[in-house]
Amino acid sequence: MTSSFPPPDDRQGLASRAIRTGHQRTPEGEHAEPIFATSSFVFSSAAEAAARFAGEQPGNIYGRFTNPTVQAFEQRLAALESGEACLATASGMSAILTLCLGLLQAGDRILTSRSLFGSTTQLFDNYLSRFGIQTDYVELTDLNAWATAMRPTTRLLFVETPSNPLMQLVDIRALADIAHTHNSLLVVDNCFCTPVLQQPLRLGADLVIHSATKYLDGQGRALGGAIVGSVALVQDKLAPAMRTAGPCMSPFNAWIFLKGLETLPLRMRAHAAAAAELAQWLTQQPAVEQVNYPGLPGHPQYALAQTQQALPGGIVSFVVRGGREAAWRVIDQVRMLSITANLGDVKTTITHPASTTHGRWTDEQRAEAGIEEGLVRIAVGLEDMTDIQADLATGLRLV
Ligand SMILES: *Cc1c(COP(=O)(O)O)cnc(C)c1O
Repeated sequence: MTSSFPPPDDRQGLASRAIRTGHQRTPEGEHAEPIFATSSFVFSSAAEAAARFAGEQPGNIYGRFTNPTVQAFEQRLAALESGEACLATASGMSAILTLCLGLLQAGDRILTSRSLFGSTTQLFDNYLSRFGIQTDYVELTDLNAWATAMRPTTRLLFVETPSNPLMQLVDIRALADIAHTHNSLLVVDNCFCTPVLQQPLRLGADLVIHSATKYLDGQGRALGGAIVGSVALVQDKLAPAMRTAGPCMSPFNAWIFLKGLETLPLRMRAHAAAAAELAQWLTQQPAVEQVNYPGLPGHPQYALAQTQQALPGGIVSFVVRGGREAAWRVIDQVRMLSITANLGDVKTTITHPASTTHGRWTDEQRAEAGIEEGLVRIAVGLEDMTDIQADLATGLRLV
């Protein structure tokens, strides 16, 4: 379970925090972070056990809610997001589930947009609804729509910015103001940006969600998730829900994410530089109708991206002329790129959102969210740009 951490050293830069925060060296003097592969911990006496269980004495108890490797990851991610507390979970989806379990009850409402990770909308629409929690949807970029849709029972505003797969942004500070005016909380899924590019808590958001599976790992090896925020929310409300329900992160995975975080600043800058170059190149291809990337001056929220994010990010999507058939042809011609819906990997991935990540949506929902049949999404990896472009050029020439 999380515990509150000393505030991050503000004199330390992001890269130093990513490498140095969280590891309490043991008497063995190890340099790298150790993996504590143990499900339980022992106490020196019955009285000590009782004090730990009662929360009167800090310390490890049981792997479902206390593990030093997991806690090192929590502390490191909290320092990067400028949060007081962090809770690591088994996956990104279990972070969102834990959030809902800890904060909501029957009769409450969530306000969000259709521009969300597919499973997140499925969780809200198909499962939370069974427990009396309803979800309202508004257009992500329309702040007036958010303000107008607020009801007295709206407890949570939930957003991804930039959104998947259209790379639309919403003004986090403005949305936080709307949430707080109505006694509601703003939650930002910061998976696409990571704290290297955007720190929602500093912009007024109450909680940050992560799928550690993506950029925090960075090499596609393990599933994990996290929630970052204040002690009052994360430690007092969410940690008890996770301790009881049990969707905890394994110490082996926590170790992978700890090592992933060490190179996160370096990788995010490289991903963003590669994506910017690819987006620019795509705008010059005759077969491409439209390119969605917040770093292109033609992006409708280019100015917001410049102020809200340190860099525009590593994901690019584009619309190919000729609908699904043309989009599938581009995808089927690749030899090096990976055809997979995963993202945040050093390997470049390519996917057709309308038939994969958004395939379970109705035609109406896809139309509402602007997921066209010709849309292709690329999570730009770290291979040589000439090879990525050559791989795409084959299919684009055939369109
Ligand atoms: C992948 C993803 C999730 C879910 O994370 P898992 O680790 O796969 O459970 C949530 N939000 C976004 C934006 C994602 O990309």
